[in-house]
Amino acid sequence: MTKMLEQYASVVGDDIIDSLRLLAEPLSGMRVVHVNSTREGGGVAEILHRLIPLKKELGINASWEVVTGDADFYQCTKKMHNALQGDDEEISDELYAHYEKMNAQNHERLAPILSQADVVVIHDPQPAALIQFYPERKSKWIWRCHIDASAPHRPVWRYLEKHVIKYDAAVYSLPAFAQPMENPLYIIPPSIDPLSEKNVSLPDDEIDRVRNTYDIDPERPVICQISRFDRFKDPVGVIEAYRMAKAFGPPLQLILAGGGAADDPEGEEVFREVEAAADDDPDIHLLMLPPDAHRTINALQRIADIVLQKSLKEGFGLTVTEALWKGKPVIGGNVGGIRIQIVNHMNGFLVNSPEGAALRIRYLLTHTNRMAAMGNNAKDFVIENYLLTRHLREYLTLMLSIISGSHDRIELSRQFQ
Ligand code: UDP
Repeated sequence: MTKMLEQYASVVGDDIIDSLRLLAEPLSGMRVVHVNSTREGGGVAEILHRLIPLKKELGINASWEVVTGDADFYQCTKKMHNALQGDDEEISDELYAHYEKMNAQNHERLAPILSQADVVVIHDPQPAALIQFYPERKSKWIWRCHIDASAPHRPVWRYLEKHVIKYDAAVYSLPAFAQPMENPLYIIPPSIDPLSEKNVSLPDDEIDRVRNTYDIDPERPVICQISRFDRFKDPVGVIEAYRMAKAFGPPLQLILAGGGAADDPEGEEVFREVEAAADDDPDIHLLMLPPDAHRTINALQRIADIVLQKSLKEGFGLTVTEALWKGKPVIGGNVGGIRIQIVNHMNGFLVNSPEGAALRIRYLLTHTNRMAAMGNNAKDFVIENYLLTRHLREYLTLMLSIISGSHDRIELSRQFQ
């Protein structure tokens, strides 16, 4: 076993690694290209940074490409993102035409790679239109949607559907997100990598250094939310919850930490709204972090007594599982992918309002035994459900399934290359 696989085996056990090798064997040497729109910021980049090396380790010729665009392109794709999550966004014909033009330019740059691939995995709407340039393809194309598309704004979905329908399969994180279509649909929730800088255990002195750097008082309770500054993450609602909890209870501190994503043009505006809501409260630590602050985020999640993810819409919300992995109870918005990570009263609480979040913060801080018990449950739940090895197993099974086409069973002894 290679060193990297050995490290995973030490977390999940040899059996799991053996099953991955068995599934990967028939796919050995296969060229699998993932395409998304940013290498930094957001959950998709976070996952691809870890998934690609592990696929390679298992003998698959995996690679990762990124589409590029200008401000209008990202404005259009952010509108698509918001519309898929239910916002009533208007996208003009000119903007759609620009989106297609940018996809055509990306096609020219990426064609030498994509035309040679056996499997292409397109993530989210930004590169979705690339498929129209491959009408005669022999390769299999998968559209992987990371967004809560359960109730999309119809006009925008109808436009995207024209592209998505051409794919050999569509993958969503939850059954509720899957739009009815003729393509085969698969459900694969995301995952975290226990060995990444974001999730490895940290020495106490490193955690203390981060605490000192940001002037966090070790004597007082800390709640935290780590997220891009995006309205769907409801950072202002987190501040409201913090204020309500603090008014009746202990002298709380709040860390709201995030950064931008290269493909998200709204971050700065939302940051300013959050700054105004924080109103110079010295106990609100509003941190704008660089994209490579993985160990800092790891430490902040460990410093917190309780982690919040009070999203109003959420495709998955890796930050929830990241916190659970660190043994923290999580108070999360009762939406989308958060619902499959938090089991109410077992590893955290699902809430529907700032008031609900405040109530649960106060409950946990006044019932420290319950808080510790929920933190213990949290890590076990992640091991069972949301580690990278489970995610990869499902991707491998998906690839085997679409490559074997109409066959009603998959022969693992067969080499597909
Ligand atoms: N993240 C980060 N820096 C930040 C904010 C978030 O590295 O300033 C990470 C966070 O730890 C998580 C990912 O980015 O791994 C966000 O994924 P999630 O699914 O929670 O939300 P998304 O941004 O994709 O909507």
